[in-house]
Amino acid sequence: MRDDKNGAAPAFGGLAIDFSGDTGATTAVATATGGPSTATTGAGRVETKLVVVGSGPAGLTAAIYAARSNLEPIVLAGSAPGGQLMLTSDVENFPGFADGIQGPDLMAAMRVQAERFGSQLIDVDIERVDFSSRPFRIWARGTEYRAQSVIVATGASALWLGLDSETRLRGRGVSACATCDGFFFRDREIAVVGGGDTAFEEATYLTRFATKVHLLHRRDTFRASKIMVDRAIKHPKIEIHPNLAVEEILGDAKVEGVRLRDVKTGAESRLPVDGVFIAIGYEPNTAAFRDWLEVDEKGYLVVHDETGSKVDGVFIAGDVHDHRYRQAVTAAADGCKAAIDAERWLESQGIAEAATATAW
Ligand SMILES: Cc1cc2nc3c(=O)[nH]c(=O)nc-3n(C[C@H](O)[C@H](O)[C@H](O)COP(=O)(O)OP(=O)(O)OC[C@H]3O[C@@H](n4cnc5c(N)ncnc54)[C@H](O)[C@@H]3O)c2cc1C
Repeated sequence: MRDDKNGAAPAFGGLAIDFSGDTGATTAVATATGGPSTATTGAGRVETKLVVVGSGPAGLTAAIYAARSNLEPIVLAGSAPGGQLMLTSDVENFPGFADGIQGPDLMAAMRVQAERFGSQLIDVDIERVDFSSRPFRIWARGTEYRAQSVIVATGASALWLGLDSETRLRGRGVSACATCDGFFFRDREIAVVGGGDTAFEEATYLTRFATKVHLLHRRDTFRASKIMVDRAIKHPKIEIHPNLAVEEILGDAKVEGVRLRDVKTGAESRLPVDGVFIAIGYEPNTAAFRDWLEVDEKGYLVVHDETGSKVDGVFIAGDVHDHRYRQAVTAAADGCKAAIDAERWLESQGIAEAATATAW
């Protein structure tokens, strides 16, 4: 693992961005009935042409494009503004940063860029929506927002074990993304936690870098397909440890090992490793939309024709539908596409000016 991955916790670096507060907070229920962009509560607009829900790479990229196209987006940024990249340190695969960039710095820069063109960001989780007619209605912390179109970019949250030590060592050897962070573990010994397809896929992928991959699972049966389990059993670099629960991730400034408990005997043991990948799944953040939009068997939103949904005027971007690529650059690209699709749709409805289509 590279030293800088073991260094200071993710910080906003040189960018003085406040992710903790609202940039245009509204506290009263809006009563406006006028057209887009007319209603405010005094603290910020509550009605507009486009609301973006979520402020990860998908949501902020959508906001940048929409703001530059005069859609005056309101971004309901969520209680985790910046999204999943706020949970990591080095990002080395986002184009344009030859030396890499810290995840929180990248998201801070995207936020500044979105605000620069007039996006209004409010760090609230939305609770429910009504997509039955336009303007679409969205409720968050006691305020009703209204929009002629909506981009849903609420992502999918990686599931964690819930250990204090895991939170403390995130970005310092604890990760939930092998594609993103495997490279940092060249010639190291690591552990993968989980028993489903994701865990087996990640373990197999990580053998490209690691000298040894320990797959830790709390049961002696696996949800993963038999073919994946068989492949892992035969792999010379993978060792499968059934019936072991991770009690603690060991290490002060960086991961040094895991403390394990045998769920059958209660016996405790320690396994020295340099990294721990938690691969127990993702939870797509779709609760507020389930009554209105289609979800697949895993709970992810279903897109039609690139970024469309079954509701005209509601678009979808990023990991909230994409469980195949799950990368910042693909989420950002999706946000761009959703904003262009929303702008063209608004134009077709006579809401956005035709000329703005050239503003990209
Ligand atoms: C540990 C880790 C390391 C990673 N490292 C890399 C890497 O190095 N390179 C890379 O390309 N990718 C990396 N990824 C993957 C990358 O972070 C995701 O693919 C990307 O963030 C997805 O972007 P998104 O905008 O779709 O969703 P997210 O980033 O998940 O953002 C979702 C947003 O929606 C908001 N939200 C959720 N629910 C609501 C609600 N009800 N109301 C309002 N807002 C809501 C959240 O607060 C958040 O702002 C990593 C992921 C993890 C977990």
